[in-house]
Amino acid sequence: MYLEKLRLDGRIAVVTGGGGGIGLRCCHALAEAGATVIMAERDPRAIESGAAFLAEQGYTADSVECDVADPDAVNAAAATVIERHGRVDILVCNAGIARSGTPAEDVTDEHWRNVIDINLNGVFWCCRAFGAPMLKQKSGAIVNIGSMSGFIVNKPQQQAYYNASKAGVHQLTKSLAAEWADRNVRVNAVAPTYIATPLTTFGAEDKEMFKVWMDGTPMRRMGEPEEVASVVQFLASDAASVMTGSIVMADLGYTCW
Ligand code: NDP
Repeated sequence: MYLEKLRLDGRIAVVTGGGGGIGLRCCHALAEAGATVIMAERDPRAIESGAAFLAEQGYTADSVECDVADPDAVNAAAATVIERHGRVDILVCNAGIARSGTPAEDVTDEHWRNVIDINLNGVFWCCRAFGAPMLKQKSGAIVNIGSMSGFIVNKPQQQAYYNASKAGVHQLTKSLAAEWADRNVRVNAVAPTYIATPLTTFGAEDKEMFKVWMDGTPMRRMGEPEEVASVVQFLASDAASVMTGSIVMADLGYTCW
């Protein structure tokens, strides 16, 4: 009765930035639960390497080229998915960038806009485009990848643009959850701590910075992308049917201190 609810057989799942890092592990987790997975990526090489990884695990994935910062491209990707699969049941808004380490006073217009365009605007374009068919079919589950940076200010690296973008993702998640609850579309977010992916290499390889990160983490380690994917798998499934508008901390205790 309970384990069965984690199954995603027959569901159509789209993962943005699904070709690498956390997104690729989300693809793996959703596929293992039975979903048909579609990687939405801007870089065809990431699609290729992501597909190769999934094939090694015994899964095939569909893909669609899509820059989440471009609303026209996002609308076109959603139309392609509906044309190919007839519906969409799960959306994981994972694509994101950090560009950490620039003090606020030195941030250029381009830098600020680039991060907000991908991390926040991109999430909205995707929720709007893929949420529309979900609202029509009166079912769907959206999981946005937020961050603990939407709650706290990271240290020692400076990244006001990133922190602001993730706080925006959290509030957008709650707003959409409230607006779409009556049509059975759940919208939740995961807020991870430092996860070992290319996005955090700059800190993992800097001894002093890494020490500050670990001193601030009760569990004294970085997370693995698979650990975030497990939370996403749960939120995307009927096992989380009671949850909408939740921002689930996946932070190894970081925000306890
Ligand atoms: P990675 O850099 O490993 O992966 C990000 C993926 O998103 C890449 O495949 C990248 O493709 C893709 N992407 C970037 N921009 C776009 C775009 N405009 N359109 C489509 N795809 C795009 O990062 P993570 O896996 O670590 O991060 C995934 C998410 O998790 C992000 O939203 C991040 O902010 C969040 N997060 C990560 C944490 C961490 O510590 N790693 C902590 C908290 C949250 P490309 O190769 O083209 O750049």
